[in-house]
Amino acid sequence: MSARLGLGIPTAPATQARPAGAGASAATLHVDWTACAARGLCAELLSNLLELDEWGYPRALGYGSDIPVGAAELADARVAVALCPRQALSLR
Ligand code: SF4
Repeated sequence: MSARLGLGIPTAPATQARPAGAGASAATLHVDWTACAARGLCAELLSNLLELDEWGYPRALGYGSDIPVGAAELADARVAVALCPRQALSLR
């Protein structure tokens, strides 16, 4: 995704491969709400995965703080992790 954003941000190392049959997600994006500053950058970068609640904290569309990330969204998720100013995002 960094190429699409034109930010030139290096991506994080690949996450561990999921075992066969573990579903379509390539990784899980975790939001640490205790570290989050509720500014919403990640929700802008991952608008297909995240929305902001009424206080500005990101939450997954249909999930809690652990968000399945598909292969098509993995690069965007890595950019969001790299850009989070509070290091509140992680990929597992
Ligand atoms: S980018 Fe980080 S600090 Fe900002 S809303 Fe998302 S998780 Fe919170």
